[in-house]
Amino acid sequence: MKILRVALDVPLDTLFDYSAADQGEIAIGDRVLVSFGRRQMVGVVAEITDHSNLAPGRIKPVLQVFRDSPPLSGEIFRLLRFCADYYHHPLGEVVLNALPVPLRQTKPVARAKPTGYHLTETGLALETDTLPARAIVKRKLLQSLKQAGTLLRSDIAAISPSAPQAIKEFIARGWAEESEEIAEPAPTPAKADDLPPLTPPQEQAVTAILSGQDHFQVWLLYGITGSGKTEVYLRVIAQVLQHGGQALVLVPEINLTPQLESRFRARFPDTCQVSLHSRLSAGERLRNWSLAQSGRARIVLGTRLALFTPMPKLKLIVVDEEHDGSFKQQDGLRYSARDMAVARGKQAGTPVILGSATPALETWYNAGIGRYQKLELPARAIAEAALPAIHCIDISRAKLADGLSDSLIDALRARLERGEQSLIFINRRGYAPVMRCAQCGWVSTCHRCSSRLVVHLREKRLRCHHCGHESRIPPTCPDCGNADLAPLGQGTQRLEDNLGSLFPSARILRVDRDSTKRKQALPEMLERIHAAEVDIVIGTQLLAKGHDFKKLTLVGVVNADGALYSADFRASERLFAQLMQVSGRAGRDALPGIVLIQTQFPTHPLFQALIKHDYPGFAETLLTERKQAEFPPFCHQALLRAEAPQMETALAFLRKAQGVVPQDFDVNLFDPVPAQMTRLAGMERAHLLVQAASRGALQAFLSAWNKALFGLGGNVRWSLDVDPLEF
Ligand code: ADP
Ligand code: ZN
Ligand code: ZN
Repeated sequence: MKILRVALDVPLDTLFDYSAADQGEIAIGDRVLVSFGRRQMVGVVAEITDHSNLAPGRIKPVLQVFRDSPPLSGEIFRLLRFCADYYHHPLGEVVLNALPVPLRQTKPVARAKPTGYHLTETGLALETDTLPARAIVKRKLLQSLKQAGTLLRSDIAAISPSAPQAIKEFIARGWAEESEEIAEPAPTPAKADDLPPLTPPQEQAVTAILSGQDHFQVWLLYGITGSGKTEVYLRVIAQVLQHGGQALVLVPEINLTPQLESRFRARFPDTCQVSLHSRLSAGERLRNWSLAQSGRARIVLGTRLALFTPMPKLKLIVVDEEHDGSFKQQDGLRYSARDMAVARGKQAGTPVILGSATPALETWYNAGIGRYQKLELPARAIAEAALPAIHCIDISRAKLADGLSDSLIDALRARLERGEQSLIFINRRGYAPVMRCAQCGWVSTCHRCSSRLVVHLREKRLRCHHCGHESRIPPTCPDCGNADLAPLGQGTQRLEDNLGSLFPSARILRVDRDSTKRKQALPEMLERIHAAEVDIVIGTQLLAKGHDFKKLTLVGVVNADGALYSADFRASERLFAQLMQVSGRAGRDALPGIVLIQTQFPTHPLFQALIKHDYPGFAETLLTERKQAEFPPFCHQALLRAEAPQMETALAFLRKAQGVVPQDFDVNLFDPVPAQMTRLAGMERAHLLVQAASRGALQAFLSAWNKALFGLGGNVRWSLDVDPLEF
């Protein structure tokens, strides 16, 4: 009898046996409907054998084999299996969660709805010049449709926030139609003579990567912001496309995809390119995923979830801003898309490019020992664009007006007078980080988390940024009844108010999670900044990355000191990367840029390195510290995390876990401790750290231990976090 071993989305580390019955051809990677307990579930066939440990009478037949989508390829299955093994996570959960949502449902997917658009005869005959010059978006849309033949709905949204409206108008006028079929345009590589000549370091990088085009090699493309890393990706991708291959490009943030998408589309107008990220609808995601799976989409651009996209002709993986923490998923399967990209490249035998101005220390270390090859772009690509000058403003002495020093205010005024843009970077949204009673010292805290409630003055609310809990701002102090409660510290809203009264005629724009809630809000804001309709931008980390604002010449950092003396050993690495990143927004074009950082500790080594733009020096300092402390990358870590309503329950579980530690493994176990964020959404959190000198030893230990942990029971939620970033 043919036995199908099926992966199901259940938290059990095992496959489940079913018989094939008479369902016709079945392949590994096929989706099947099975009955599991009293439910029906979708599973994926992981193995096919002819025996089972179950008694024949207990083996149920599969109920249905879905024929709506091709089976998951062996390539992607191998990657998912590796991922499940590496993170010690049940294979079924890994596999099912890698599928687009419609493919996880117990019904076959209906044919995808028409979301492609193409020009009609009338539309094709239309000359761009006959549209009014003001109709920039319509002109762009017409141009793009002519070039691409067919555009997906998401492609159109990427052109401009108002392009979806414009396409409706095109349809109404009979210029365009919806279509179900995506015509595959003939690949015509970009004309080489239109492109700017590469700088010598770019040339070297491209040549090196292309010389190893058909085998696995990790390239660290280390280049300051604006040094032309993206141009390097584009040149390498051009070759990949010419050889009929597919390229996967991962970026840390959804907000970076539209801009990169349009840059790619401009370079490869005739290439089918899709994006994958969580802001797409389930249908769009399925469609894009399927286009990649069939090999038709040649460029896949996306956030970490795009890593698991089946790509039969994969020939290149790019991880841009590889150091970014958002490549690591912080719940469920806690995988690092950067690390798994390397694993995928190894399995597929393709080059992997990790690009960054401030590589993760682990990556820097790997390049140092020769495991990765380092390629360096030491200068900005545009000759006139010098690196910004970075200065610290010592606020331990200077008097601050509403959180702003005189020097920063003067610099802002000078920009306003010259008609240049400024960005004030502050990583706290809301009005102020906390509400405080000056009389008794009460501060607003979240009762569900170990965190403070942030003041949102406009909405008159206190909000927890961790669990979402909200309450009214109390009229008087809950502890002593004092009526003089005051917001303490600076947030984006307060800064917006202060700057507004300092510079009443300036056009000020606040860009944070609150002001960009509406789907198209951020793209619209970015457009306004690019169009120079804004004088001062107040931005959180949302704005720190990637964006290329030509008129921006001043970056002010209001207060970054919190991370300097943090208990988290990665805090200063992150702060350095963030400040380097945000500094990189200044002076991207011919206008010279300047960065002013307000700090109480101007002589701190971090700032000293930053002023000199000396990432290698700072990385060296950090690596020396890590080596002395035996922290990663000089050891390998895993955390056993436990959560329970009571701290004692969580700790007790971890102590039990200590008791079932298998013998004879070369690992170090630490005692259970409460997590840094001790309480989150009403759950108490604790963890136990495991460390080993070698990855192999850690992995062998975790495999054995993981099995024992499943037997422990107890009323806790627990999980293993391999290579944890948060403690
Ligand atoms: P990064 O990805 O490192 O931030 P980009 O590739 O975005 O850098 O390049 C920064 C700017 O320099 C862009 O405006 C880009 O068009 C331009 N640029 C890149 N390479 C060259 C080159 N070889 N010649 C002229 N301009 C270039
Ligand atoms: Zn009080
Ligand atoms: Zn909370």
